[in-house]
Amino acid sequence: MPCYIRRVMKALVFTAPSVVELHDIDEPSVKPDEILVEVAAAGICGSELHGVRTPGFRTPPLVMGHEFAGTTPDGRRVAVNPIVSCGRCDLCVRGHRQLCRGRALIGVHRPGGFAERVAVPVSAVHALPDGMPWTAAGLIEPIAYAVHTWNVSQIPEGARVGVVGCGTIGLLCVQFARRRGAVSVVAADVSDRRAAIASRLGADSAGPSLRGEFDVVFDAVGLPVTRADALARLVPGGTAVALGLASADPGFDAADLVRTEKRLIGSFGYTPAEFATAVDLAAEWDLSWVNTFPLADGARVFTDLMNGGTEPVKALLTP
Ligand SMILES: [Zn+2]
Ligand SMILES: [Zn+2]
Repeated sequence: MPCYIRRVMKALVFTAPSVVELHDIDEPSVKPDEILVEVAAAGICGSELHGVRTPGFRTPPLVMGHEFAGTTPDGRRVAVNPIVSCGRCDLCVRGHRQLCRGRALIGVHRPGGFAERVAVPVSAVHALPDGMPWTAAGLIEPIAYAVHTWNVSQIPEGARVGVVGCGTIGLLCVQFARRRGAVSVVAADVSDRRAAIASRLGADSAGPSLRGEFDVVFDAVGLPVTRADALARLVPGGTAVALGLASADPGFDAADLVRTEKRLIGSFGYTPAEFATAVDLAAEWDLSWVNTFPLADGARVFTDLMNGGTEPVKALLTP
């Protein structure tokens, strides 16, 4: 007679507004079109810090974590694309899988990578190149974000690029701009340390606020003041790219936008092809600003960052 053995694992769980805790929870059950991933590295994202303070898009109880990589039961090392799309709706058919009408995000709408194990759709896993360190594998998701952002921004040759906010996405935008031939890259962050990292990664200058005029400004913060600043710093006809999600408030002068033909565009996620590009890129990038922590320290690290801590810029949990 078969006997049922309840197997548990450790997971960092978002349990209530502003609360994440380490819990023992049931191991995931794996459906026929899914695969179990033993998580090796899972990045804490700024969107999760905001999401836990102001539940809505994410609702507790939830195992978050959408930036992760790990090992499958047959020993393959994989990165997981957390955007689950239907592949059939009009937007998927047009190639905009990140905008799928039935879009679900692993770590938002279903359990994610802040756990020892997670079940994901078979279609979500991408093989990693041999020898890629887990630190790089855990950064593939935000790198894919930077790839997509660059693609949707239609940046002219020799652009002057500004970056507001030197968190993970901002620092990746700095590196991307440098590699894609921007004539100048200027970054801004209220944290001296983060600004210094942006300089080390190739920004021509970095300080507490953006100075100068730009063809493109990436707002990787998303506060009303940073959205307004991103637009104010543009040359007429220039493009501001909204990436940050800190506030829903727009905060900018729409009449000025009309009179100067400035463009403001949103950027969210990436296509499967852009995710694959990021898998190739991750090994080449300077990720010396990434720190790893055991899952057991996850609640402390998460809470520090949520309460305004600026270090580390990127924390990877290693279950
Ligand atoms: Zn993220
Ligand atoms: Zn779809």
